[in-house]
Amino acid sequence: MNDAKAQILALREQLERYNQQYYVSDAPTVPDAEYDRVMRELIDLEQAHPELLDADSPSQKVGGAPLSAFTPVEHAQPMLSLDNVFSLDELAAFEKRVLTRLNRSQAVQYCCEPKLDGLAVSLMYEQGRLVQGATRGDGRTGEGITENVRTIKSIPLTLSGSGWPARFEVRGEVFMPSAGFTAMNDAARERGEKIFANPRNAAAGSLRQLDSRITAKRPLAFYCYGVGLVEGEPLAASHYDTLQRLKSWGLPVSPEVKLMTGQAGCEQYHDDILSRREQLAYEIDGVVYKVDDLALQAQLGFVARAPRWATAHKFPAQEELTQLLNVEFQV
Ligand code: NAD
Repeated sequence: MNDAKAQILALREQLERYNQQYYVSDAPTVPDAEYDRVMRELIDLEQAHPELLDADSPSQKVGGAPLSAFTPVEHAQPMLSLDNVFSLDELAAFEKRVLTRLNRSQAVQYCCEPKLDGLAVSLMYEQGRLVQGATRGDGRTGEGITENVRTIKSIPLTLSGSGWPARFEVRGEVFMPSAGFTAMNDAARERGEKIFANPRNAAAGSLRQLDSRITAKRPLAFYCYGVGLVEGEPLAASHYDTLQRLKSWGLPVSPEVKLMTGQAGCEQYHDDILSRREQLAYEIDGVVYKVDDLALQAQLGFVARAPRWATAHKFPAQEELTQLLNVEFQV
């Protein structure tokens, strides 16, 4: 028991350190696969010793503390993370949990999406105009980055069409397409400057700048994958239709988003995207399955740091520890 406690405390401390480096400094020192392995070890130990569970454990928390240099933005609704599955067995267990909780035997529809490797942002629109941009931060409080998101060409400053709510929040991922990332690092290398470890850190480091003129020079893009606060009526009865409405107002939605049925449909989607991973114009670290029907989502609800109605199916890691440690980071 004392051994387990000591081990749990050591793992929490290790993960806190990794979180600080990754979320706050945009400079990880270990690859994601290693982080995921340590997190899994902690979760297994905490599950075996529920008396040692703690709301402050990294297993229960989202992201990292917002930097005080930015204006804090309180999220009207928390910005959560996603649970992960790494294998078909774990996917089967996810599907089983969903169906058991819904008391159904028949498969449900999932909205399947690429898991873009960038950072989550919230965009607030009022009367069809972009009025605020914020990072996810620790899920409750993010960093105000309005001027920075305004420099990203794929983010509309004013919405097109009609029928948008008077005030609503779009959520999505800011990322750096692979071509832009390579060109930016090549140019930095030629000038003898530091380079970014990967497109995710490049996107985060570029967006979390105090000077938006620097962000404006970085090749950033955006896809939305959901909504937060919506004043008035919901946009649609399903997640997929919500995304279609966002698209109709000029908000970019990934063309890879598809509706599939049950675990078999999710597997088919996963295999298709994985086989085309290298051809995509941006890096992804997996795919995401979301129960499509919003009424079913509401029935399933949330746990501390993630919804029960969605999971990320992670792809095998691409980066190697040695590669990551040999790179000099730009913060
Ligand atoms: P996550 O990557 O596990 O999943 C949630 C995030 O996925 C969302 O916040 C959103 O930003 C993103 N996302 C991309 N496409 C999406 C879509 N279609 N729908 C919904 N969300 C989508 O997020 P997390 O909680 O920020 O981080 C945990 C992961 O980050 C770890 O599993 C690890 O891979 C990595 N990490 C690495 C280190 C490190 O030191 N290397 C440290 C901390 C975290």
